[in-house]
Amino acid sequence: MAEIWREERMLIDGRLVAASDGATYDNVNPATEKVIGVAADGTSTDMDGAIAAARHAFDHTDWADDLAFRVRCIRQLHEALTKHADELRASTVAEVGCPVALTYGPQLDAPLAGLPWVADLAETYHWETSLGFAEPFGMRTHRTVRREPVGVVGAITPWNYPVQINLAKVVPALAAGNTVVLKPAPDTPYGATLLGQVIAEHTDIPAGVVNVVTSAGHAVGQQLCEDPRVDMISFTGSTATGTRIMTAAAATIKKVFLELGGKSALVALDDADIDAVVTSAAFATTTHAGQGCANTTRLLLPRSKYRDGIAALAETLKTWPYGDPTDSSVLMGPLIREEQRQRVLGYIQKGVEEGATIAVGGGIPAHLPTGYYVEPTVLADVDPDSTVAQDEIFGPVLVVIPHDGDDHAVQIANNSRYGLSGTVVSASDERARAVANRMRTGTVNVNGGVFYGVDVPFGGYKQSGIGREMGVAGFEEYLETKSIAEGAR
Ligand code: NAD
Repeated sequence: MAEIWREERMLIDGRLVAASDGATYDNVNPATEKVIGVAADGTSTDMDGAIAAARHAFDHTDWADDLAFRVRCIRQLHEALTKHADELRASTVAEVGCPVALTYGPQLDAPLAGLPWVADLAETYHWETSLGFAEPFGMRTHRTVRREPVGVVGAITPWNYPVQINLAKVVPALAAGNTVVLKPAPDTPYGATLLGQVIAEHTDIPAGVVNVVTSAGHAVGQQLCEDPRVDMISFTGSTATGTRIMTAAAATIKKVFLELGGKSALVALDDADIDAVVTSAAFATTTHAGQGCANTTRLLLPRSKYRDGIAALAETLKTWPYGDPTDSSVLMGPLIREEQRQRVLGYIQKGVEEGATIAVGGGIPAHLPTGYYVEPTVLADVDPDSTVAQDEIFGPVLVVIPHDGDDHAVQIANNSRYGLSGTVVSASDERARAVANRMRTGTVNVNGGVFYGVDVPFGGYKQSGIGREMGVAGFEEYLETKSIAEGAR
């Protein structure tokens, strides 16, 4: 692994700066419990400065109008980040506790590789579309629909996939012509401050176009949502915080784009190869220790295969490798912090109180005394309406529920306030697809398919969110629509 790359400073109005009062807070590695460095504990004054800079850059520079320049800047950013990928990889593993193996995919390399696609999209996008002539109320008119940036975008991000999510918001927002204030999660400041450093030192992105404000608390995020100079909030995080953000943004009628929690189902139909399902469920449970919004954390097995499936899963997970995230053979590291570990253990306890049985795991692994680890855990005999079947646990905990056929499986899968993702497995592609079509979720993987891609819209139904990230839809979230009607003789 390369040296951990640190950037303690924020980016405000083109300058890398400490907090206005000089305060910092510790950035802790969740695998070692050691402090890897500090980050600026940004103040309300810092957030105010960042918003003012973003507003000024939007209103008084030609950033919004100079598409060719924006595209050039995004290509520079891609090149510079790619050059520093190994340092960024080391920092990501250290502050997120994510397995290094995941940085070769969705944690780092995949989102980095996607940046040129966004630049290409902006370059080839139809910013104006003619609707032709019409004669409303007898007035001959030529109509044009023009797309324009929304303005100042506040981007608020979580800690679980910080580089991916920061890039998935900041880059399309910039490509669309907006200016941005990025407020990362307190646990993962470097994923954002290093982006700030690269922008300041290796690109021509003008001062104020991108600002990064870190903070140990959430108040500066709330401030960003309330400030009337901000036009839009793009948020990824929990549904509870999403509700607070929507409420805070409501007073100034900001556009809100929300990527929230999930409790996605892996549905095995009665003709599915259960061995393959078990392997897939084991990966879904353990990948990044279950700290993914789209991990399928409810397994729906046909009743006839329920007991055998759970036994096979327990056997598989008993010997599943996990631990040190710098070890390239593991896909599961620790949870982000002790508080989160206690929350996950509390859910396991709650599941047992509500009648579930622990098929495997259930506690803190004895062989990993340091780091916020929880054993891969399977809860059987779970009532689909119980707390553990309904709440997002955000740990390596799978609940297994029996079903009595395709209709029943769809009913259980949709018995959730969330609607983010899902997986369907069947020997019949047709049957699997029919079930996928009936699932009320923003993405579904069918028979080994993988939805992830820079060109694929990702997002949730119901309380999993509003809007889509990535793809053309994700780019268009950052655009306003203006209809121009020109009198024609
Ligand atoms: P969180 O909701 O606790 O925090 C997310 C961000 O919101 C952080 O930057 C935090 O500082 C900020 N925040 C908290 N309170 C705020 C407030 N009142 N006003 C403004 N900002 C505030 O989420 P987390 O624990 O960092 O991340 C885990 C959650 O994120 C899970 O629920 C997960 O499902 C969700 N998530 C969703 C997606 C998706 O694309 N749908 C992707 C990743 C994570």
